[in-house]
Amino acid sequence: MFKGLMVTGRRRVYVFDASAFIEGLEGLAFEDQVFTTPEVVEELREAEVKGRSELARELGRVRVESPRLKHVEEAERAAFQTGDFSRLSKADLSLLALAVQLRAEGLSPTIVSGDYAVQNVAEQLNLNYASTLRIKHRIRWLTYCSSCGRSFPPGFRLECCPTCGGRLKRKPLERGKAGGGGKRLGN
Ligand SMILES: [Zn+2]
Repeated sequence: MFKGLMVTGRRRVYVFDASAFIEGLEGLAFEDQVFTTPEVVEELREAEVKGRSELARELGRVRVESPRLKHVEEAERAAFQTGDFSRLSKADLSLLALAVQLRAEGLSPTIVSGDYAVQNVAEQLNLNYASTLRIKHRIRWLTYCSSCGRSFPPGFRLECCPTCGGRLKRKPLERGKAGGGGKRLGN
């Protein structure tokens, strides 16, 4: 009803992938709400990376929701646009779609995922993301060509070097004090 007011009061929430759960919830403030999807929960169960009781306790802090189809489709479109679609699991797409949905519902979601393809699509969707909540250093990534060594600005999205056609790789450029492990977390 009062859309203008919701913008100023957007509540920050987190959308976790499996790697974020494996790192644990220690980086969260008590009041922080974590969301995830049934697909991510299934990945965690299959991996059996944690004792069941510990996972269950953590999931008590977590709301598990399935995104609606239209948001899944929006995430899929973005993944095709960045060329990451084939690198994304069903769980990856589901959490991207859930973040889109939560934003549409007036929340301010931050995706927590160490997966570069997920982060890349999150950026395409203009979603906040962080690689982890535990490391309190911001890492800026330098993209460079593994053949000729030419470097490109952070966020450069091509897969091949425009000069020599070599494969592009990334390495951490610098570490600075920040509120989280990813871009735009402080916004
Ligand atoms: Zn090159």
